[in-house]
Amino acid sequence: MGRTPHRRIGVMGGTFDPIHHGHLVTAEEAWKQFRLDLVLFIPSGHPPHKEDRRNLDPESRYLMTVIATADNPHFQVSRIEIDRPGPSYTIDTVRELHRIYGKEAQIFFITGADAILEILTWKEPEKVLQECTFIAATRPGYDLRRLEESLPEAERLRRATEPRVLIMEIPALAISSTDIRRRVREGRSIRYLVPEGVREFIEKNGFYR
Ligand code: NAP
Repeated sequence: MGRTPHRRIGVMGGTFDPIHHGHLVTAEEAWKQFRLDLVLFIPSGHPPHKEDRRNLDPESRYLMTVIATADNPHFQVSRIEIDRPGPSYTIDTVRELHRIYGKEAQIFFITGADAILEILTWKEPEKVLQECTFIAATRPGYDLRRLEESLPEAERLRRATEPRVLIMEIPALAISSTDIRRRVREGRSIRYLVPEGVREFIEKNGFYR
């Protein structure tokens, strides 16, 4: 990943266990709505808040993300969190992206609203909000008050003028990774919920059984 002329960089941060059509629709919608130059999918390597839950290994989650995004010219996948040892803190990722794309690049960190609800527990929440703009993807009917209440005081003051957390409603986010894993475990179909290549990869490797 060399220095490029891109200036509005979308970053899809997530565990992607597995990636599904809800994530892909979210990234495409953000790309269009926020006039992004590209969307970089960054599967988290070692989620800091999930030590108690076993995720599929980072390499397999990365490979599924590559398979899912291969046919879209403005989607790319990055290994930065997978290759960085230790917990995957967003502040470290955003700083690394600024080193790669330049200080002036604008970073739009796209992730689920439920993940952003926990932002106060993240490493250096105020700094991370200074260094990038967040796009919180919600399903229709999501209770936005919970999200507003979870934001740091400085962000609440900023919201009338220059908000750092924007909200995007995505109907396709009715699809969830939890539901897909449950379906596989129960022997139900996941066809049309994930890209066909991802479904075949899950089946071939016997994931989530
Ligand atoms: P999560 O708790 O597994 O996901 C929370 C919700 O958001 C789920 O409903 C999830 O749906 C959805 N979601 C996750 N990523 C999404 C995306 N890119 N687009 C749309 N919906 C998404 O959250 P996570 O995946 O572990 O973490 C999300 C991001 O926040 C990651 O990049 C992670 O590194 C970052 N994070 C950072 C810190 C920190 O710096 N300390 C702490 C926590 C999280 P699905 O299950 O269907 O994906």
